Amino acid sequence: MNAQNLKGKLVLIVGPSGSGKGTVIEELKKRHSDWFFPPSCTTRPPRPSEKDGAVYHFMSEGDFKAGIESGEFLEWAEVHKKNFYGTLRKPIFSALEQGKTVVREVDIQGFKSIKSLIPAENLTSIFLIVENLDELKARILKRGPMTEEEISRRMQSAKKEISESHLCDYRVPSPHGKIPEITAEVERIILSNKA
Ligand code: 5GP
Repeated sequence: MNAQNLKGKLVLIVGPSGSGKGTVIEELKKRHSDWFFPPSCTTRPPRPSEKDGAVYHFMSEGDFKAGIESGEFLEWAEVHKKNFYGTLRKPIFSALEQGKTVVREVDIQGFKSIKSLIPAENLTSIFLIVENLDELKARILKRGPMTEEEISRRMQSAKKEISESHLCDYRVPSPHGKIPEITAEVERIILSNKA
């Protein structure tokens, strides 16, 4: 695997918890069967609707640490000071070598790590912006019950992520109830940047 032989484009969707990244990616999946949407690995437990291997491979902390040791991850991070998340190196590099468009959501730490590893011509980053933090909190709460501590951790991460959003190539407003419009804008950006 060599970063010089990459022909495709890795599109990173960044933004705080509740900004709509997952929903936008699900919409893109329906429209673009030729794009690759790789699962990442996480130590967070699955939510009731989540299937192993779709968006995430769910694993124990021990297995995750073994993955770090064996160099499986392009990047990994501890997110919301709680669970580990890591993007898998091999499937992403092999899709990029084949010239594919690869779309993955990561947190801002993951984005910053990947930016230093993948050539700029093979990378596009899109930050989904939610300006209103009360609205963001309400959206996070809609996902299901959460402790005060968990909400406060997510809100702290959100403020930090938003303060670094200028590092991304594009910032797309993500207002409530506008998934079709947000998806169309993200899709437009990806198509205009295709390798
Ligand atoms: P959630 O637990 O809500 O699915 O995701 C929590 C956060 O982890 C989100 O900001 C999400 O974008 C981020 N995330 C998901 N996959 C990865 C990954 O592979 N690497 C990193 N660094 N962050 C990830």
